[in-house]
Amino acid sequence: MNEQVDEQLDELRRELCEYGRRAAALGLVIGTSGNLSARKGDLVVVTPSGVALDRLRPEDCPVVDLEGRVVEGERKPSSETPMHLALYEATGARAVVHTHSVFATVVASTMTELPPIHYNALLLGGAVRVAPYATYGTPELARNVIAAIEGRQAALMASHGAVTIGGGMEQAFEATRLLEWLCEVYVRALGVGRPTVLTEDQLTAVIERALSG
Ligand SMILES: [Zn+2]
Repeated sequence: MNEQVDEQLDELRRELCEYGRRAAALGLVIGTSGNLSARKGDLVVVTPSGVALDRLRPEDCPVVDLEGRVVEGERKPSSETPMHLALYEATGARAVVHTHSVFATVVASTMTELPPIHYNALLLGGAVRVAPYATYGTPELARNVIAAIEGRQAALMASHGAVTIGGGMEQAFEATRLLEWLCEVYVRALGVGRPTVLTEDQLTAVIERALSG
């Protein structure tokens, strides 16, 4: 690998560590659950299996090619690497964040989609679909997630958690935070009464308003 590519991969490794710590500090991940990845060209830097995200060091993060073969690093890539790679193949994403955050998991374990009760849901593409359950790390789960995330920046995974994508790690991470906030608002709203779901017309009006500056 040439020096320039190496430097760019090192930068992504540092980013994974930084956002891994932030995810842990915000309570979005606990222990070794959750994983992050970032793509550069035909290579993907991914968090390793079995290392807590708040203790991650740049050298812990393996580099894989788009088929999942390890091209650099000593540690085993996260067990959810097939899902990350499928997302890179199916979307233009440059970063993927997967967590088992509490409110996202509550919604993912009880519903088939997160209805848009707040207009900020549009930042993720609208209602967030829940991908049907499949065993973690399997191609079936990856397929389900690809179908659920179509036209969106986020998907929930039944009885499992959440996944978001972005043009870079910051964008994917902010999508994870927003998704968790939307899920929390929805769950808390359910505890108070019947949440009002925004209509298509109301959502279209928000988009028009945003586009008109
Ligand atoms: Zn998981």
